Amino acid sequence: MKNKRMDISIVIPVYNEEANIEELFNRITLAMSKLHYSYEIIFVNDGSTDNTQTILESIYKKTKKTKQTLKIIQFTSNFRKAAAYSAGFENAEGEYIITMDGDLQDDPFEIEKFLLKAKEGFEFVTGHKVNEKGKSSKNFASRIFNLVISKTFKLEIHDIDCPFRLIRSDIAKDLHLYEGNYRFIPLLAKELGANIAEIPIKNLPRLWGKSKYSGKKLEEGFFDYLTQLFLLKYRKKPMHFFGAFGILFGLTGFLILLYLTIIGLMGKSHIGNRPLLSLGILLVITGIQLFSTGFLAESIIRQSNSERHYKIKKILRE
Ligand code: UDP
Ligand code: MG
Repeated sequence: MKNKRMDISIVIPVYNEEANIEELFNRITLAMSKLHYSYEIIFVNDGSTDNTQTILESIYKKTKKTKQTLKIIQFTSNFRKAAAYSAGFENAEGEYIITMDGDLQDDPFEIEKFLLKAKEGFEFVTGHKVNEKGKSSKNFASRIFNLVISKTFKLEIHDIDCPFRLIRSDIAKDLHLYEGNYRFIPLLAKELGANIAEIPIKNLPRLWGKSKYSGKKLEEGFFDYLTQLFLLKYRKKPMHFFGAFGILFGLTGFLILLYLTIIGLMGKSHIGNRPLLSLGILLVITGIQLFSTGFLAESIIRQSNSERHYKIKKILRE
């Protein structure tokens, strides 16, 4: 039986979710029993300090009798969500990966909708959380943010970091998740050429435990978002960023100095003590600095082969 390929791997990062895990496991089991797919559940315990591991292990024991496939990956410490996803994806054997949160805010009975989209040929299906009236359940700021991202990266989705999604396994394994870039998984998938769809889903309230990100989400999240956005847009072409500002600053400085030189030469006024002179010099120097930073960044990128720039669709051999 083992050589038949597994259809689905459900990957769930959990950090101190002792009150939610058992219920989540039961709901998934029930939902999946209605569908005819082979599946495995992978819990990645991201260094929980509560009873999460004990509960996971007791569920694991039970599955030995029910012949359900359950994998548990326990981290030595809290390495955060990107690391948890990476470990889960690496150990996934399914053709498709479903990710969901461990806090019961995603409804396992909706997995079927994702699979139907996959059947239509989509390789990446992301959820868009809506309320009963079908309106986005995101707040105003978040909606604006998502709109900006969607326009900047030309990807028509409303909820860039919705944790409930389906990804074809090979794409998931190539995402190279680290630190904060997991918040932009749809963009990373797009870079790999994935065929992306979005479906509306329910947003259930968190019943037990508290959100791990609340409080610091705003301040820390803001800089995280900025860094990630910057990296996504310019990581492969830093000169487009630094060069543009370099030219802008340098040119403005140059024009200022040119103007001062001309009026100086015409003897109309003393230019040595004009504030404009300092500004001109400052801008020229800053411009050159920015430009050289761009060059440096470009040459570092050219040298490091660590980054993959492509994803192969097919190789014909022999
Ligand atoms: N999580 C994790 N590592 C962390 C923080 C959170 O694996 O360092 C898990 C958490 O257990 C949950 C999911 O990531 O399954 C989302 O966390 P949370 O509900 O706190 O985030 P929110 O829904 O508020 O964005
Ligand atoms: Mg949550």
